[in-house]
Amino acid sequence: MHHFPDASAVVRALSPDEPVIINRPHAAARAARFFVEKFPGTSLYAVKANPSPELFKVLWDAGITHYDVASIAEVRLVRATLPEAVLCFMHPVKSKSAIAEAYLVHGVRTFSLDSHDELAKIVTATAQADGSAAEDLRLCVRLRVSSEYSELSLASKFGIDLADAAPLLQATRQVADWLGVCFHVGSQAMTPFAFVQALERVRAAIVVAAVTVDIIDVGGGFPSIYPGMEPPPLEDYFGAIHRAAESLPVSYSSELWCEPGRALCAEYNSLVVRVEKTRDDELYINDGAYGALYDAAHVGWRFPVRCLSEGRSEQLKPCSFYGPTCDDADYMEGPFLLPVDMQAGDYIEIGMLGAYGAAMKTAFNGFGQAAAIETGDEPMASQYMGNRRDPRTSDNVVSLR
Ligand SMILES: *Cc1c(COP(=O)(O)O)cnc(C)c1O
Repeated sequence: MHHFPDASAVVRALSPDEPVIINRPHAAARAARFFVEKFPGTSLYAVKANPSPELFKVLWDAGITHYDVASIAEVRLVRATLPEAVLCFMHPVKSKSAIAEAYLVHGVRTFSLDSHDELAKIVTATAQADGSAAEDLRLCVRLRVSSEYSELSLASKFGIDLADAAPLLQATRQVADWLGVCFHVGSQAMTPFAFVQALERVRAAIVVAAVTVDIIDVGGGFPSIYPGMEPPPLEDYFGAIHRAAESLPVSYSSELWCEPGRALCAEYNSLVVRVEKTRDDELYINDGAYGALYDAAHVGWRFPVRCLSEGRSEQLKPCSFYGPTCDDADYMEGPFLLPVDMQAGDYIEIGMLGAYGAAMKTAFNGFGQAAAIETGDEPMASQYMGNRRDPRTSDNVVSLR
């Protein structure tokens, strides 16, 4: 790993032909410490947001002991990197062999589910040699909740409807040492009310099922900062979740969990790309939809950008990007604000790509190589530096009725 003060120094030293992913371990560590110190419970890192082993080590050293994994490959990867980590297999649809390997080989005890079929699968796959059921399972029933306050929905694929939840909660209670209820409000939830509303649904589910609950897991969805998407401070989310969870009818010793992906790693990476050609406001760059810019292409996500080449105008114009592959889908509309006189050969730093960015790179069409480099400067935006303007307005301060 090479160390540089910032992305401009990387460009001056290397004039890289390929895109470069910049790592900022100090930013990820700061995010982790924030969750460890301020979330009123246990924070699980949702590995899919960025499955980099170097990042796992940074988070572990900063106090993140629990990891939300979604595939057997993620189980193996985290276990190989962090032998002592607590792994929670939170994908509600798993293969029997993945469950068995996770339980028997890697010590996984926590699993999520949203159907009776999955419950039966977990019980069979973890049965003891004599056929009796495992006695140490921690099972979280995933409830379907609304994604209306989030930028990316996770509402239609997973989660059991409130109306059907009681029989599943009762059946799961029969075989679980710990019973949990989990949900996901969708990624980049722009208001704490998303969690308050979901916890109201959890309350209804528990009351109807009349079961003792040991874990409330509020999932991921904690936002980061992007152009045009400045959420309220994370303290507001934690406060609203704390108040709503405190009043739930759960066992006295119950635990509160969350599963941040984006919020823990968004600030960890940025990307340095080169402009290969310009056509008016369209810049042809050497990374794109099949690289770290998947969300920029497929869901129109805007990322902060800056020009790293010297001597360009201070005056900015809205630009769009074409990626390197040979299809029209490799297009990122933006707008990305860059100097009016951008030229071929210029370098651009694209910020806040640690979550669902650096992790998404593929080798499609022969592109996808990227060197990893570390810098000591700050990310383009931060939830954790205490220097943000306060975006609170009356409509996003949550009042509990
Ligand atoms: C993707 C995912 C997360 C992380 O979501 P973020 O929006 O990145 O915080 C957490 N839990 C589960 C089950 C997920 O699928």
